[in-house]
Amino acid sequence: MHIETIPAPALDWQEEALCAQTGGDFFFPEPGSSVREAKRICSLCPIRSLCLDFALEHDERFGVWGGLSEKERLELRRAGR
Ligand code: SF4
Repeated sequence: MHIETIPAPALDWQEEALCAQTGGDFFFPEPGSSVREAKRICSLCPIRSLCLDFALEHDERFGVWGGLSEKERLELRRAGR
């Protein structure tokens, strides 16, 4: 994530991010690796919808955000979300 480029108030919600407690490795796996564990953690995260909205608004291209993989977010954008 490029947090330093985003104004701090916009990131207040990330204080509740479950992935902040687990580390980012699950969320930015090597190409072809499973994202199952990241998705499982996201499914328990209290800010999942905020996270997904943020990723879509900022066109985040890499990693799992809000429980969706890069490919799934791309499909969502193409479907006109
Ligand atoms: S939804 Fe997933 S990626 Fe987003 S903050 Fe929560 S655990 Fe992290």
